[in-house]
Parts: sequence; C-alpha cells; structure tokens
Amino acid sequence: MNEKNTGGKNSPAESSSLNFIEQFIEEDIREGKNDGRVHTRFPPEPNGYLHIGHAKAICLDFGSAERFGGKCNLRFDDTNPMKEETEYVDSIKEDIHWLGFDWEDREYYASDYFDKLYDFAVDLVKRGLAYVDDQNSEQIAAQKGTPTKPGTESPFRNRSVEENLDLFTRMKAGEFNEGTRVLRAKIDMASPNMHMRDPVIYRIVNRAHHRTGNKWHVYPMYDFAHGQSDYFEGITHSLCTLEFEVHRPLYDWLVDRLRTGDYRPRQIEFNRLNLTYTVMSKRKLQELVEEKLVSGWDDPRMPTISGLRRRGYTPESIRNFVKTIGYTKVEAINDFALLEHAVRNDLNAKAPRVFAVLDPVKLVITNYPADKEEEMELVNNPEDESMGSRKVPFSNELYIERNDFMEDPPRKFFRLGPDREVRLKGAYIVKCTGYDKDEETGKIEKIYCEYDPDTKSGGPAANRKVKGTLHWVSVKHAVDAEVRQYDRLFNHEDPMGQKGHDYKEFLNPDSLEVLRNCKLEPSLADVKPLDKFQFQRLGYFCADKKSEPGKPVFNRTVPLRDTWGKMSKK
Ligand code: ATP
Ligand code: MG
Repeated sequence: MNEKNTGGKNSPAESSSLNFIEQFIEEDIREGKNDGRVHTRFPPEPNGYLHIGHAKAICLDFGSAERFGGKCNLRFDDTNPMKEETEYVDSIKEDIHWLGFDWEDREYYASDYFDKLYDFAVDLVKRGLAYVDDQNSEQIAAQKGTPTKPGTESPFRNRSVEENLDLFTRMKAGEFNEGTRVLRAKIDMASPNMHMRDPVIYRIVNRAHHRTGNKWHVYPMYDFAHGQSDYFEGITHSLCTLEFEVHRPLYDWLVDRLRTGDYRPRQIEFNRLNLTYTVMSKRKLQELVEEKLVSGWDDPRMPTISGLRRRGYTPESIRNFVKTIGYTKVEAINDFALLEHAVRNDLNAKAPRVFAVLDPVKLVITNYPADKEEEMELVNNPEDESMGSRKVPFSNELYIERNDFMEDPPRKFFRLGPDREVRLKGAYIVKCTGYDKDEETGKIEKIYCEYDPDTKSGGPAANRKVKGTLHWVSVKHAVDAEVRQYDRLFNHEDPMGQKGHDYKEFLNPDSLEVLRNCKLEPSLADVKPLDKFQFQRLGYFCADKKSEPGKPVFNRTVPLRDTWGKMSKK
C-alpha cells in the first residue's frame, strides 16, 4: 500500500480544492478499496490530434494520480482498424508531454489485449453469456426496442455453446464477410438501459490493423475492450466524459464477469469541455483539415493542443484554464474568452516586452542629427525585474504605427497629430511639425517631428507630462517580419448547434490576416520557433515554426485586451 494514500497529515483530504472525482477517490482510499491504490489512464483513440477538450481529461487523469501518489497509463484505444494512424499516435504523445505529464514506461494499446479479450469472449460463450448472431445490423437495430418498449430476442439467441464456439472461431479465422455475423453478450433484451440489450461485443473486420497486421478478422467493440483493458492494467479509477454514464452498467457487468478477486476498476464520469466559437470533435476538426479550410491540425486557429501551442499558448495557461473551469456533472459551454484570459495572465508574467510596428509609417525627427545613434535602455518586463533590460537603437528616422497618427484628430485622440506631442517610449518627447500625404490616395507618407533633448529618461525634463506614449522602431535597424493576426475560427458562438445549418457556414472569413511589411526591433532578428513576446501596446505574439534566422514570422496569440467581447455587443 502506498503511504501517501492513507490519509496522513499531508493528505489531499485536508486540501479544500479536491474536485468531486478526487473526493470519490479519497473515499475509496479511506475505505481501503483496491488496497488503497490509485491508478488512472488516459485512453485516446488515435484517429486525430488531441484538442483542448482532451487536455481537460489529461489534467484529471494524470493530475489525480499525481495528487494521490498513484500512476497514470497512456492507453491507445486502437480497436478500430479503419481509422488509426501512427502520425496520430506520435502527435498524441508529443502533446501530453508538452502539457507536462508523463506515463513513464506505461504506453499501452488496447490491441495489446486482443488475445486476452478474445479468450474472455470465448469464456463468455462457454458460460452461455454470449452468442453469435447471424443477423445484419439493420435487423438487430429493428429488434432493439425503445427506451420504453422492450426489445425482441434474436432468433439466434439460444444457440448451443458448441455452435457458438464453432461460429466464433470461424469468424476469427476470416471465413465470413464483414457484416454477416456478430458476437453479442447475452444480457437482457428488456433492460431499461438500451446498452444492456444484448450489446454487440465483436464484429468482423477484414482489414489490416496498424499494430497487429492481418492477424485478426474480428475486433472487439469499444465497450468490450475498454473496461477489460482497465482491468488488465489494474486501473482503479476510469475517468471519462458524461456520455459514458449510460454505458456504466455494461462496464460493470463485463468487469464483474472477468474479475477473480476483490479488485475492481470504477468508472466515474465528468462533463466535457465545450468552448464558444469553435468545434470540439476530432471528426469535425478532421473535416476542416481535409477540406483545407485550415492549414493543418496545428493551424493556430484550431482548438487542438498543437494549434494552441503554435499560436503561443503555454502548457501552464492551458492547465490553469482547466483548473478554473473545473469538473462537474452538468454539460456546459465555456467562453473562449476565459481561455484567452488564462494565456494573457501567464504571458503577462513571462513574456519580454518588445517593440514591433505592424503597419508602419515613417516619422522623421528633423532636429536629430542624421548620423547620430543612441541606444535606449528598456525594461524587459515591468512585472519581473529579474528579466532585466535591453538596448534598443534610436535614430532620426523611425517607424510608428500608421493608426497612431491622425491628420485631424478628435480631442480624445491621445496619439500624434499636427502640433501635438507624444512620448516615444524609452526615448524622447516629440512634437509633430508636419507631414507628407499622397494627394491621390490620401495616404500619409511621412510625418515630421522635432524632439526635446531634455525629455530623455534621466534628463531635466524627463517627467514632463504628455498624454500619449507610442512604440517605435528605428528605420535603419529594423528587421522585416511577417505577422499573422488571428481571430475566432467561427463567427457564431455555437456553430454546431444551429438547426438546418452546416457548422462550416459559420466559418469566420476574417479569421486570418497576414501582415507582410512589419518592422521589428533588432533584438528579434533571430528568434526561435515558439519564442514568445509582448509586442508593446499590441498583444502577445509567438514565433511561428516557419520562423528562420533573419526572417521572423510571428503569430498573434491574443491582443492585450478582449476586443471581441466589445465588438460582438455592437
Ligand atoms: P472526439 O469526440 O473529439 O473524437 P473522443 O471522446 O472520441 O473525442 P477519445 O480519443 O476517445 O476522443 O477521448 C479520449 C479521452 O478524452 C476520453 O476519456 C474522453 O472522454 C476524453 N475527452 C474527449 N473529448 C473531451 C472533451 N471535450 N472534454 C473532456 N474530455 C474529453
Ligand atoms: Mg472516441
């Protein structure tokens, strides 16, 4: 027995923040169930990349094991030979590790148990608890009844054990075509729970499997493989989403017919994670990838772990978000803004501040010598002194954001306009003395200013008050960059829930804006993929995987504030 599990002084029992599942686990430990062991598993089907919903399950499976000094297995639920691919297995492992969890040497596959599962099925047949049904799926469905009306027994239900064994063996040997026969558990066609009405436990599939090759012609159904795999691995708590609640009686029925001692895995269900403005199903996400509506599974607009990673999310921000929303027994839909809030919080503490001008216009300081250069010392993160400072070159020609200047600004525009003054952050106060405009297009081409040398930090007029402060990048030192700004992938809160509409009708046509003429301070020339920054006054940005030395490419993670909330209320 593990000491940590016995409710000692530092036991989790004394912490107030146990979620309801952890409270159940706690109780089981206290009652000495399964010798006080805690062993969970995360059981992904390798038919797509993980999404943020899976992160919720991962944090619970690995997190509760950790909390009680137990273990968590990674088990690939690869019972369906049609859909699974090695690419998915690899991506799933990468994503779990990135989130900060580890299954050590316990990487398992449901297919590891095909022999044992088959033996158990044969055992059920021998005990008169399973039979081969020669009907096709339509016929079987027609006999299922309804929740209020009992089903009808199959004409093959009372076959002899010998005949069942013979047929099941021949199914395994590949003698029959797909869909011609199945093996069913013999439970109760009148059960109020439809899943107990003689569920199919094996079907014929004459196709190769990614791990077992052509060995098998019969494959176990999910419900037959899952609980038994839990049992084989010594899992004590099998945590899954609410849709499996109605499967629990079958889970227990099967495990009870398999187990030989006191040990028994317990299934506990919790609510799925759903988010506004996105879809959370691998099948739908796969459609977006296959129809090239996004650039891939890791498109920064995707709610996949790999998409969020590329977008600039940190593992901590995702784990904190999951902690915030918690676990309940009630289905709900969470606001995407909560997830964005979590990443802003985390990056605020971690991301160095830098200058980047995304839509540049030139500002010339006419009284600053053209051949002069200064290095301005700028703090990397006002939230964290230990992050130090850096030097940013300053000269007479700078880039500022085009929308930081207006020819005829209203009174409340606290940026630059004719005769107005602003502070260039970390440098000087400048006053606008004129500007050039392309009369045909109306586009501002250049802004002229004069600077006040006394206003430099440490100078006599350093504290002189001006209303606005702008970021800037020195023209001759600027690094060119591409910056991609993302918005919500869908422009409807609940794209899946609109009757009579396909969710793809709600794809946001403006979810990607590529800016190719951005100017960065020189410290950003050689960023590495996934390096994260706050572009001052703009938001958090993350270097893309395609970023190369001297040619940075950035993805916007989030703007500084939640502008969407305001916009959608208009
Ligand atoms: P999808 O419907 O997206 O394909 P799934 O449930 O089929 O998801 P699996 O690979 O079978 O995906 O899921 C592995 C584990 O992750 C399961 O235990 C499942 O309950 C959990 N899970 C899947 N989606 C969510 C979600 N949105 N929120 C919380 N847990 C989830
Ligand atoms: Mg599934």
